[in-house]
Amino acid sequence: MGKESIYLDWAATTPLRAEVAAEMEPYTQSPQHGIGLQANTTSLHSAGRKAFSELEKYRERTAGVLGAKRPNEIFFTSGATESNNAALFGIVSAESKKRKQQNAGAFTPHIVSTAIEHSSILAPLKALKGFGCEITLIKPSKQGVIEVEQLEEACTENTILFSIQYGNNEIGVIQEIPALAQYARSRNITFHSDAVQVLGKIPINLEESGVSAASFSAHKLGGPKGSGVLYLKTRTPFDPYILGGGQEEGRRSGTTNLASVAGFARAAELACSEVSEQSEYLINLRDLLYSALIQIEGCHATVLPEMGSKTSLPHVIHVCFEGIESETLILRLDSLGFSVSGGSSCSSSSLRPSKILTALDVPASRIRGALRVSIGPDTTEEQIQQFTYALQTCVKS
Ligand code: PMP
Repeated sequence: MGKESIYLDWAATTPLRAEVAAEMEPYTQSPQHGIGLQANTTSLHSAGRKAFSELEKYRERTAGVLGAKRPNEIFFTSGATESNNAALFGIVSAESKKRKQQNAGAFTPHIVSTAIEHSSILAPLKALKGFGCEITLIKPSKQGVIEVEQLEEACTENTILFSIQYGNNEIGVIQEIPALAQYARSRNITFHSDAVQVLGKIPINLEESGVSAASFSAHKLGGPKGSGVLYLKTRTPFDPYILGGGQEEGRRSGTTNLASVAGFARAAELACSEVSEQSEYLINLRDLLYSALIQIEGCHATVLPEMGSKTSLPHVIHVCFEGIESETLILRLDSLGFSVSGGSSCSSSSLRPSKILTALDVPASRIRGALRVSIGPDTTEEQIQQFTYALQTCVKS
């Protein structure tokens, strides 16, 4: 890639922000003497106690910025893949145990999710099915929307968990999570949401949203990779599956990575403080790009948001081309200095047809030509114009 390269894959990951790197530095730099701020947060000596107090300050800051009622509703993980796995396995295990006791033995847990979830939800669900759980994956409308009525229809008396993504990483649709979570509450069912793509893109307040659990990842918002959070509202049933020294109140054992925690807290604070200004900026660019792309012959918007719409992610643009493979387009664009993706970053290298597009009944001929362009704070109107021009050339060549 030449030095003029233009990064348009912000939904896959984002560059580490300088302010975040600065926040992390004291926990990574070599101390001149002793252990500095790199002590183990569970050590009893004063350096360990200092590290522990730093950890708890970051927990408070993170809880504050996400709108959690209590700091201990936040626990730090190695990213959203871990948060999603922990939420599904942990909640299902604890809730099933409770129900088995109530039912004096036999109980088949039922989980409701959607066909457009990230693989870090779909894969654990498949594993849970192997362990005897029943799984219902709701098919969204053609616009990618999940309605409360669909939850109602999917529910059985054995339903113990809903896991519904907040904002979709491929097609950009945002679900009405507060309404869906309210339905879950009315049925006394635990509600988890993979909220990775919405943090810093739309205002979030966990307590007000009504969810019982939610997953987040720092590297989508200018934070470090391998850094995540699982929010677990007080009294949410949860059995930890990473067992050991009992860190994070026993919910996630393992020596705390304070640099990662500091990076999460700072990235979330920055992203949330800039959310209204950022989303307005990105929505304008998103709409500009959509209007240009749909003019290109053979290009179809997968779910076209209305101009200015806040029901789609501000940073995700998804189109499908007929008669041209995404791989060809991505490589041609790459040779011209543009980094884009064919869909979810986690499945794009395997080049399997997107499960999300299949669930939306996008014809196979279009799925093969899927292109996701995702924008960020560094993206400019001029870059959008250059990209549109380059894409037109790539489609013709
Ligand atoms: N959920 C969604 C919606 C995502 O976009 C991603 C990242 N591609 C993940 C979960 C996994 O996050 P992480 O990379 O932190 O494991």
